[in-house]
Amino acid sequence: MTELRAALRSWLDGRMALGEPELFLAGTRSDALERIRVTGSGAAGTGESELDLSRLSSEGTREDILGIGDMDALRTVAEACTRCGLHSTRTKVVFSDGSPDARVLCVGEAPGANEDRTGLPFVGRAGKLLDRLLLSVGFPRAEVFICNVLKCRPPGNRNPAPDEIEACSPFMLRQLELVRPTVIVAFGTFAAQTLLGCRDSLRHLRGRTHLYEGYPLVVTYHPAALLRNPGWTRPTWRDLQLARRIADGDRSTSSTSATPGGQPASGAEVSGDTVAPKDQLTLGGPNG
Ligand code: SF4
Repeated sequence: MTELRAALRSWLDGRMALGEPELFLAGTRSDALERIRVTGSGAAGTGESELDLSRLSSEGTREDILGIGDMDALRTVAEACTRCGLHSTRTKVVFSDGSPDARVLCVGEAPGANEDRTGLPFVGRAGKLLDRLLLSVGFPRAEVFICNVLKCRPPGNRNPAPDEIEACSPFMLRQLELVRPTVIVAFGTFAAQTLLGCRDSLRHLRGRTHLYEGYPLVVTYHPAALLRNPGWTRPTWRDLQLARRIADGDRSTSSTSATPGGQPASGAEVSGDTVAPKDQLTLGGPNG
């Protein structure tokens, strides 16, 4: 308790140094103390903060992970994570690439061999193709946020197991909450089915906008699949055009449409649990 008190004092001193003479905390006193302890924001550089983050890497509950206060702390916890068996076979944790301020959040399935070696998602030939596709609709890689459902590579690129998804999903969910994108793009069947909680085929899921945690979500082919089936490049480009339109529509209207649990982006109509684009896309583009 003494260490926690010291952390709280350090944090309050920091707020005062930043010109914040008064502090209003929502929730109960224990809520506030827990938040300070979990985020480590009041104990930056102290042993307690590092110890707490280390504890979350091995023992943290789903709620603990979802309570981590910033992307750097979340990355620190993920990079030391032993919450599922994949930690014993990975080379590097593949946390993310791109900008945490992005309007577009791209989600793939899990790291492959190149990603496991480099610690970056979507690298190698498939990654380069993704970069070109994103750029063709005006999204440079550095301006989107890229991650996977799983942060560690399943051995031999096997499908992720349900318990691995369960253990790892809080990281992706917290990434989503911290980035707060205008639109999510799910690449490949696995990512789409995992996020949408269904077993529908990619063919069925493509071409319309879904909602995930209140955010518009577009489904498309994984770039690795495009390398095997170049004929899918044109449909993928059309899916990314849809994502572009959602991003643009949201940018040009009220920011309230970008909040979690908020309304779908402007330029779209809600039908049941899905959102259908108002207009037909103009065809044409790379390879098409
Ligand atoms: S896959 Fe996710 S839950 Fe499993 S060890 Fe890696 S970071 Fe942790």
